[in-house]
Amino acid sequence: MKPAIIRTGFDMLYFSGTHRLLRPLFEGVGAILMLHHVRPQRHDQFQPNRSLEVSPAFLSETLSWLRRRDIDIVSLDEMHRRLTERDFRRRFVCMTFDDGYRDNRVHAYPILKRHGAPFAIYVPASFPERRGKLWWLALESAIAANDSIAVTMDGTERNFRCATTRQKYETYDLLYRRLRGLAREAPLHALVDELSVRYGVDMRRLADALCMDWSEIRALAGDPLVTIGAHTANHIMLGKATEDTARRELKSGRELVEAALGMEVRHLAYPYGGHDAAGPREFRIAAALGYKTAATTRPGVLFAAHARHLTALPRLSLNGEYQATRYLNVLMSGAATALYNGFRRVDAA
Ligand SMILES: [Zn+2]
Repeated sequence: MKPAIIRTGFDMLYFSGTHRLLRPLFEGVGAILMLHHVRPQRHDQFQPNRSLEVSPAFLSETLSWLRRRDIDIVSLDEMHRRLTERDFRRRFVCMTFDDGYRDNRVHAYPILKRHGAPFAIYVPASFPERRGKLWWLALESAIAANDSIAVTMDGTERNFRCATTRQKYETYDLLYRRLRGLAREAPLHALVDELSVRYGVDMRRLADALCMDWSEIRALAGDPLVTIGAHTANHIMLGKATEDTARRELKSGRELVEAALGMEVRHLAYPYGGHDAAGPREFRIAAALGYKTAATTRPGVLFAAHARHLTALPRLSLNGEYQATRYLNVLMSGAATALYNGFRRVDAA
């Protein structure tokens, strides 16, 4: 769905007061907030991945809003305790950051620290090891820097005009949607690898510039406010892999982080995390591997019933397109996700 449509939906829920009517029924016991980048807003016209970043000011505003509402900000371990012991005397939120971006340390950490807010970072082992491919950013770079691009699709070369901002968005959306829609991940990487070679995008340099290395993660992990979670070995769409690969990714993803940091890792987030990337098979494997909790990107707040689905937890995305506390109000009321989920509280299928 287009951000503008979602924003209108949020605004309707907010300004009509519907979110307030639905809140008692659908706010649940707490929520896991999901973030990616935290950095000062850029002013480039073409920012197709803008939904993945919020400004430091908005993070700060969010934490203040939670404190004002008297909502506890807790670690994943504490969330697990409250869910399993059914301790719902106070509403709670977990702050989670995916992928281990350096801006989390530079921009988010000082703010979280100032608020005394525990938080978790889910690290895919391949990102600090620089094998990881931030393909969605490579695609963005190639389109941003060129007036047209050519890629091989189904054996034929296709050209896309991307001279204007509008054309850049159209090209990005078309290719992104096509790549995400593929049944397997290998052809996605083949296409983006080809594009990167052709247009001089250095994926290793992207990872170097954007992702923390192990020593930076280790330094953060020393703070009791910080939980480091697993995010698979190679940041893959598990749902598109064979069961063996999915199990290996979930197992070694944790072992590599544990070996690099010398600490136990008990929490997981599924990369991409939507229905195509994580389903009942992954929820079962994660539980069997002993993860205490695992987070999807399925939108939702937490209900008491999630205690029976600890490896299929929903999250609320703190999305760069909606950086205003009125959207937080709507999200935390559970109204938007209740509508989205057809008023179903738990979606673990
Ligand atoms: Zn991720």
